[in-house]
Amino acid sequence: MTGTTSADKEPIFDSAGNEYSYATSIPFNVGIQDNICVSPCSYVTMAQVSNQLTINGQTATISSVEVTQAIQQYQTLADLKTSLQTTGEPPVPIISGKPAVMRIYFASVPSAQTVTVRVSGVTNDSKTVDLQPNCSEPDQRSHAAPKNCPSIDFYFNPPPDAAGAWAVNLTLSDVNGNEVQRESLNFKSRDTNQLLIHPVSVCSASGEDCGRAPWLNETKVFLSKILPTNSVTVGSFTPLTMDRDSFITPPCIIDNQTVYWFYCWVDSTQKTLGALYTHEDASIDSHLHRSSKYLGIYHALTLDEQQGDGGDFDPAGNLRPSPSAIISDSLIAQVFRPAFENVAYSAAHEIGHSLGLLHTSTDQLTPYGGSPPGCWPYGSRQQGPVSHWPYPTNNIQSGSQFEYGWDWVTHRPIDPVLNNEFMAYCAYSWISPIRYNEAIQALGGGSVPSVASASSGAKPRARTRS
Ligand SMILES: [Zn+2]
Repeated sequence: MTGTTSADKEPIFDSAGNEYSYATSIPFNVGIQDNICVSPCSYVTMAQVSNQLTINGQTATISSVEVTQAIQQYQTLADLKTSLQTTGEPPVPIISGKPAVMRIYFASVPSAQTVTVRVSGVTNDSKTVDLQPNCSEPDQRSHAAPKNCPSIDFYFNPPPDAAGAWAVNLTLSDVNGNEVQRESLNFKSRDTNQLLIHPVSVCSASGEDCGRAPWLNETKVFLSKILPTNSVTVGSFTPLTMDRDSFITPPCIIDNQTVYWFYCWVDSTQKTLGALYTHEDASIDSHLHRSSKYLGIYHALTLDEQQGDGGDFDPAGNLRPSPSAIISDSLIAQVFRPAFENVAYSAAHEIGHSLGLLHTSTDQLTPYGGSPPGCWPYGSRQQGPVSHWPYPTNNIQSGSQFEYGWDWVTHRPIDPVLNNEFMAYCAYSWISPIRYNEAIQALGGGSVPSVASASSGAKPRARTRS
């Protein structure tokens, strides 16, 4: 940002009576170390002066408010107000009943200041914090070391859509209790379906070699963190026998190619799992605003049998939602596909497919070097003609920048440098704004405009599984 200050050649005084002397027109290069002389003559950066001019002698200012439940697209306070006036929502909509955090960020202050923020409306609370100098908004958002800059975070549960708009009233006070800023924001929530997972233990013969899933609860917790729903539940195991021997001898042909017999077994098992979803399931799902998925878990015998599958493809090769997904129970998968640090994430990925979520299809990966972060080199393969992923990397990001997620269980930010979209093959994994908004639609939350404009325009390639 360049230009000249509006106070050229005029002396300026701050609230402490210090004079800011301008010899001539001063280049206004925020963020660059252009020094000017301040009386008494010490040197400060233009960014610091700009800040003091902006706040006009008052204490800190709230410069942005982020309401997030897993992921959000950063906005300035002014942009958030525009969004709320236009749609009642930030770019990533708020889901009713899912734990939310309202994060308050401040313009960087030139010296340490104690401020108090009070919130009323959707929640009533008050917090006091000592703002430290040189804490930018990104520093406050990330909490990153070594600065460890704080943000003021208020936790609440958004009310149901039927309750209408909900208000957030914020007041900012200085250390003397003087109110220096007041903001009123009106949000609305979206209701989405609950997610019910029926785990199915797939056996190679009656009662033999059946899949188990000690990591299933971890999958549930991860999904409850990242998906736009206020409920993820896992039912009790039911058995399903899928005889492997009958698939070994006949040729296995998929997409006019002869492939390893195991892929036909997986395809057949996936279809059989899908048939477990009955009309009664559909009726109850509709009545209860629920989405049910049958998650098959099989026991892998060899490294070649580490496989997951979810979703379904239409004749044009587009992935579409499926009532089922399938995954190996074996942690040996870490050897075969080391980017999958935890098979629980793989199961979440397959459930993502069953909701119609696609791979990122980006060819530019952060290589997996044996330990996170990174992406498995084959992990973001094209699925269908359009990936809905317009970014050059798999990192968690929006159109303008990397985005910090929020873990509502640990109350910690999610670092987008370390974390990648969970529909790629990466460790560590989180969900991006695009996939989150797509999941809102898949879970009955209605359309999200930003999704429609997110197509990559990639050329069609052969579909791939897992
Ligand atoms: Zn996949």
